[in-house]
Amino acid sequence: MKLDYTDEQVMFRNMAREFAEREILPVASEDDQNRHFRHEIVQKMGALGLMGAPVPQEYGGLGTDYLTYALICEEIARASASVFTTLTVQVSVFQVPILKWGNEQLKKKYLPRTAKAELIGCFGLTEPNIGSDAAGLETTATRQGNMWVLDGAKMWITNGGVAGLAIIAAQTDKSKRHRGITAFLVEQGTPGFSSRDIQGKLGLHASNTAELILQGCKVPEENILGQVGDGFKIAMTALDSGRISIGAGCVGLAQACVDAAAKYAQERIQFGKPIVSFQLVQEMLVDMIVETEAARLLVHRAAFLKDKGEHFTREASIAKYFAAEAAQRAAVKAVKIHGGYGYSNEYPVERYYRDVMAMVLYEGTAEIQKLVIGRESLGVSAFV
Ligand SMILES: Cc1cc2nc3c(=O)[nH]c(=O)nc-3n(C[C@H](O)[C@H](O)[C@H](O)COP(=O)(O)OP(=O)(O)OC[C@H]3O[C@@H](n4cnc5c(N)ncnc54)[C@H](O)[C@@H]3O)c2cc1C
Repeated sequence: MKLDYTDEQVMFRNMAREFAEREILPVASEDDQNRHFRHEIVQKMGALGLMGAPVPQEYGGLGTDYLTYALICEEIARASASVFTTLTVQVSVFQVPILKWGNEQLKKKYLPRTAKAELIGCFGLTEPNIGSDAAGLETTATRQGNMWVLDGAKMWITNGGVAGLAIIAAQTDKSKRHRGITAFLVEQGTPGFSSRDIQGKLGLHASNTAELILQGCKVPEENILGQVGDGFKIAMTALDSGRISIGAGCVGLAQACVDAAAKYAQERIQFGKPIVSFQLVQEMLVDMIVETEAARLLVHRAAFLKDKGEHFTREASIAKYFAAEAAQRAAVKAVKIHGGYGYSNEYPVERYYRDVMAMVLYEGTAEIQKLVIGRESLGVSAFV
């Protein structure tokens, strides 16, 4: 694995960094406090190509490799975990499955608009009663001629209330459990399909999270991704890719914690000295720095393997697990270093502390990552 970046990777990372510092950072706290999903930011990212970087140019994307996309995710998350969450869902678990499993007609119809963010997408796997045990979905799809009728509900769906198109995983044959799941593309406005924004979240206030409701929602046969029964495989491969970008987002959030805490520690005077001069404060900062750098390398290794076309499930789970835990530890330490001020929204570390919890949970909790890593490393599956 090469540790230096290509000129193109550096260029896109810098482009994302400049954009994030100019357009996202100045409004990140305000949008968090006002619980405001800022469409203009997403549109501008779309115009720059950042909302579909790894989508091939023939489908309207920038055609970058996955490592470049991870670098972009890190920079966006460093400014706002909310905007990052919109991005990672749009690319990793929405565009990537369409790219890999969609037929040519679906790819041509949807991908160019999603790459420019003219069309926002979402990925509906989780349900009110089903989270980690994704094979047990309760949403059903029943064939009626050349249409499928979807009934059920999806919970905690990022972009769900702002999306024009959703990937919905539904049971088409419950007796086959995970082999009976099928993935459908459902357009907003389809009769029987609606959303309700979820209020009262701990963090990610500037990201949209919704419940999706499907009641007799008719979807044409041609909107199936892959084949009938491929849905679980599609969801799991989407999550493999997603875990690399979530890991990258966690690195961005952890880096934001390091930057904020190091700055504050140099400015804050106690006992007549800047608190950074106290070795116990330094220790906290050093732990944050070391873990952030380690997480970055794990994320880049997973992206490197994906770019080489090698199996990367294990490495993606290791990266997501470690980066999320490291980011959570960094957020706790960043608040501690800020003392009482860390407990107030006067400083951004309070937002990092709340936002990071979603990153620990979504696309597979720490426990689920450990089960995947165990299965991939030891050949023993805890999933039945
Ligand atoms: C802000 C946000 C955005 C989200 N976005 C999306 C989205 O876009 N699309 C989508 O489909 N989902 C989304 N999710 C859902 C997310 O992926 C789930 O919350 C997550 O997978 C956990 O599922 P659950 O909440 O049902 O928890 P549960 O599965 O009920 O887990 C509860 C606890 O039990 C533990 N647990 C469960 N099973 C095991 C086991 N076998 N061994 C050990 N421990 C176990 C878990 O680790 C966890 O600690 C989002 C969630 C949040 C909070």
